[in-house]
Amino acid sequence: MKTMTCRQLGGPCDLEHHGETADDVINSQDRHLKEAVRAGDTAHGPARDEMKSRWRHPKRSLGWYNDSKKAFAALPDD
Ligand SMILES: [Zn+2]
Repeated sequence: MKTMTCRQLGGPCDLEHHGETADDVINSQDRHLKEAVRAGDTAHGPARDEMKSRWRHPKRSLGWYNDSKKAFAALPDD
């Protein structure tokens, strides 16, 4: 398992996501952003919008995706 924070994934807080793969933590971040915004947290709004546009424009977002995967791969195991 590895840990990436909300902040490392472009968000505004230090909540930790744990996962075996980069996709695990990215999906976990996606859920976290949705929940935070639904709960009325405006600080997570911009990150939520960015994440939404990533799903809509996957090709344009490949850079972010590959960077996140690289950052994840470079992390030590928990
Ligand atoms: Zn957060």
